[in-house]
Formats: sequence, C-alpha cells, structure tokens
Amino acid sequence: MKDFFKYYKPYKGLFILDFGSAVFVGVLELIFPLMTSLFIDELLPSKDWRNIVFGAIGLFLVYGFVSLLKFIVTYWGHKLGTNIERDIRNELYQHLQKLNFGFFDNMKTGKLIGRLTNDLMDIGEVAHHGPEEVFVAVMTVIGALMIMLFIDVKLALITFCIVPIIFILTIYFNQKMTTAFERLFGNVSTFNEVIGESIGGIRLVQAFTNERHEQKRFESANEAFRATKLKAYNYMSWNSSIGYIAQKFTLIIVLILGCYFVLHGHMTNGEFVAFIMITDILFKPLQSINLIIELFPKGIAGFKNFREIMETTTEIKDSKDAVTFASTPETISYEHVTFKYGDKTILDDLSFTVNEGEKVALVGPSGGGKTTLCSLLPRFYDPINGRITINGDDIRDYTLESLRQQIGIVQQDVFLFSGTLRENVAYGDMTATEEEIMWAIDKAQLKSFVDGLPHGIDTIVGERGTKLSGGQKQRVSIARMFLKNPKVIILDEATSALDVETENRIQAAFKELSEGRTTLTIAHRLSTIRDADRILYIEDGRIAESGSHDELMARRGKYYQLQLAQHQ
Ligand code: ADP
Ligand code: MG
Repeated sequence: MKDFFKYYKPYKGLFILDFGSAVFVGVLELIFPLMTSLFIDELLPSKDWRNIVFGAIGLFLVYGFVSLLKFIVTYWGHKLGTNIERDIRNELYQHLQKLNFGFFDNMKTGKLIGRLTNDLMDIGEVAHHGPEEVFVAVMTVIGALMIMLFIDVKLALITFCIVPIIFILTIYFNQKMTTAFERLFGNVSTFNEVIGESIGGIRLVQAFTNERHEQKRFESANEAFRATKLKAYNYMSWNSSIGYIAQKFTLIIVLILGCYFVLHGHMTNGEFVAFIMITDILFKPLQSINLIIELFPKGIAGFKNFREIMETTTEIKDSKDAVTFASTPETISYEHVTFKYGDKTILDDLSFTVNEGEKVALVGPSGGGKTTLCSLLPRFYDPINGRITINGDDIRDYTLESLRQQIGIVQQDVFLFSGTLRENVAYGDMTATEEEIMWAIDKAQLKSFVDGLPHGIDTIVGERGTKLSGGQKQRVSIARMFLKNPKVIILDEATSALDVETENRIQAAFKELSEGRTTLTIAHRLSTIRDADRILYIEDGRIAESGSHDELMARRGKYYQLQLAQHQ
C-alpha cells in the first residue's frame, strides 16, 4: 500500500482535484431526493409556478455544476491514472535494462511484455478509481443511512435490517469473482507466452510443417483462457442478478411500508418519494464496489508482479567505489575462474593471461565453455570463484559502462533491429557521421552489397534482419564494431556452412577488425586461426592445451587430433 501511494506524490494537486470533485458529486447526488421532497411538499402545494420554475432553475444550475465535476473526475482522474501508469512503466523498464543475462535466460519475453503493458494498465485504472471510489462508496452509504434516519426513524431501521444481508451476499460473490479474475490474470500471461513463442518461431513452425501442432497448442491455451474467463463471468452474473433482485425487493418493501406510514400520517408524500429515491441511491455503492472488486485484484496482481521484478536485484552492477576505466587494457587475466549455471560447473579453475594486441584463439568441442568464458569479460555473468583482472585490477572495480565500452563482441547469433542498415550500423556509435558509417561498411566488406541495393544504407533489414543473409548480418555486426572501436574484440565465429566467397569476406572483415586490437576468437574452422599468437584448447571448462599452432601440432595432442579430423 505504502509502496503504491508513493506514486501519487508528484500529482498531489491532480489527486486533490479528482478526489474533491468525486466527493462533491457524491454529496450532491445524495441531496437530490431531499430537493424532490421539497418540490412535492412545499412548492407543489403553494401552486405558485414562479416558485416551481425558480426552484427548477436552481436545481438545473447545481446539477449542471455536478456534470462539470463529473467531467473532471473522468478526465483528470484518468490523467492521474495514466500518469502513474507511465511512471511505473518507465521505472520498470529502467530496472529491466539493468538486470543481468541470468534473469533474461530464465524469463520469457511474452511474460515481460505482459508485465510492461496489461499489468500496468490495470494499475493505472486502480490508481485512478481506487481511493476515490472506495471513499465515495463509504460516504454514500453513511450519508444515505443518515438521511433515511432523518426522514423517518422507524422505516429507516426496518430498511437497515435488510441491507446488511444484501451486502454480505454481494461480498460473497465478489470474493468468488475476485479469485476467478486472479486466475484469469495468470492465464493472460501464459497465453502471451504461447503467442509470443509461436509467432516468433513461425519460420521454424512452417519449415517443420508443425502448424497443426502449434494450432492445437494455441487452441488449448485459448480454450483455457476462455474457460477461466467464463468462470469469472459466471460469478459476475450471480452477483448482478442477486444484486438486482435484492435491490428491487428492498424497494418494494419500502413501497409497502411507506404507503402504510403515509396513510397513518407518519410521513408526507414528498418524504415518501425521497425515501424511495435514497434507498435506490444506497445501492449505488454496491455497483461501484463491483467495479472496484473487478479492478482491484487485477491491479494488485499487476503491482505485485511489478514489485517482484523491481525487487529482483543483480550482483552485476557498479560497486560503490567503482572507477571509470580510462587507460588501455594492457593485460587481461583470468585468475582461477570458476563459473556455474545453476549447479552445473561450466568453467573450472581456469587461468590465463592475454596481453595487449595479442590474438588468442579458443578451440575445442562444442559445449566446452568457450562462449561462456568470453561472456564473463564484459560481465554478462560474474565468476563464482576467482577473478578476472585488467591491468591487475579486478574488472568489478570498474564501472560496467566503461568496462563494456572497451569490449566488442561479434556474436555467433547476430541481432539486428528491424530498421535500416544505417540504423543498425550506427548502433555502434550513435553520434557517427555519414562518412564514418560508410567507412565502417567498407571495412566490413559490405560496400559492394550496399551499393547494389536500390535504397543503399537506408534499406530496411526486416525484423531481426530477416531480409539479409547470415553472412551479411554478420558483416553488419562487424561494421557496428568498427564504429564502436573497442580495444578488445571477441569474435564468436559462425559455424554455419558459408560459401567460400562469403567466408573469405567475413575472414577479411574479421582480420581488419582485429588489426592492432586484443582479440579473443572462438574458432570452429581451424584454418582461420593458424596465425593466432596462442591457441587455447578448451574442454569441459578447462584449458587442456595451450600454445601456438606449431607447438600444438608438434605436441600431437587434442589440437592435433582435431586438425586431423577437420582435414579428412
Ligand atoms: P561453447 O561455446 O564452448 O560451445 P558454451 O559456453 O556455449 O560452450 O556452453 C557451455 C555449457 O553451458 C553448455 O553445456 C551449455 O549447455 C551451457 N549453457 C550455455 N549457456 C547457458 C545458459 N544461459 N544457461 C544455462 N546453461 C547454459
Ligand atoms: Mg559457443
């Protein structure tokens, strides 16, 4: 609760305006029956049209004002809600940007999208309707009861006996409805995940002609969604039906008793009408309670989900006295580095040093831990034991930003945004000029390709770069690196069987890029690393062999075996 109300803080004025208007509307609504009674008992018997018209104009002015207040409540109230929704969403997004790879490894994108959109929309609605509707509902009930007592104590007391029964019934069904909606809420996010994955993987689905399987999976998720929703609506129907009959039942009782009281002279006609009207008003809060009950669980669940992510912290962040890395990385050392994913040891007490400008190649069986080893350097993950140092200092002593600016990674699995080639290349340096972008494209061996495109560098690459070939995508990511101009380069080479021409172009681009930089290359094709300064053979998270090509060949160990295997 306290966590939630802090979001109102910047909008105190808006909140007071909205809340105050809502209270005013509530009070003036309560007064209408009394006005009616005045009309019937005073103005009507006077038979003076001037009074009647005068009274009507007065009422017209008052309720014209109420309609203005209602506008304020709806518009400015929603403004309050949307502002809070936006703030919470920004905060969540900002937090997500900081969470580490480990978090995203275990989180489905569809789920996160749901958290950032639907969940927060409900929070916005609650932020607006919550406090005001609750307050006005309580105020209306108390006000209505007081006016009833004021009109006629006996009739009021009789009515009071009936009302609690109705409230209890309503609350019972409301609670049922609440749990049903909570379940629905969970279902929406599961549903989002299913959709996100099947649409995201549509190419794979079609390639394997698994459309029917996906259709079934989708339909069963859709059906589960429908069933939960219907269950919620079942309780909602009970709720509205029982609410309705209870309301009419009470009114009819008041009608009968009222007739009796009027005939025996305990009540005037006007009071009778006013009493009926106020009884009707008494039921209004029940309706707004229904609305709140539908909204609250959604909003609360959304807020809980939000808090859950916000409370997810990461070890991978700047330490308190982190310094900016401003010099040149002369030595990079892995010192007894151990790393695990969960319980599984991936890197086991691994040590080596790379000097400035050195080209180190990592080879070895797939799953040996090469990619993982490289992802520790920009701190995508932190070692469990041991440390990585640059120029003798633990990389955790540097700010993440300055550390990551030193390192460029060309990943095996290239990610491109759906915009143009230009935007994707410029991602390496947002301030790059046209000339610099063209230079990078040239360096990455992409110039002839780009020149052949009708729209040149303004060609749209499609979602994740689907309109480009694998080799082209990889060269775009290399161009991006040229702009970033990092001192340390990590190349995770593609294993995909590229044609010789493309392969040669990528190799040429890699060679350009690694010129004069410290380079870690994960090589699958041994032909590409012959002239590496040092080759590390990584197996089961350990360095099994280390040395130059010639040394390792002479040793006739694992590297030698691998060479033989590739040349068969
Ligand atoms: P290599 O690059 O040598 O092929 P990786 O470093 O990619 O090997 O993977 C090493 C091991 O870690 C593999 O067994 C793989 O299954 C596991 N692994 C890789 N990434 C993750 C991850 N994000 N979460 C859990 N396990 C992972
Ligand atoms: Mg790998």
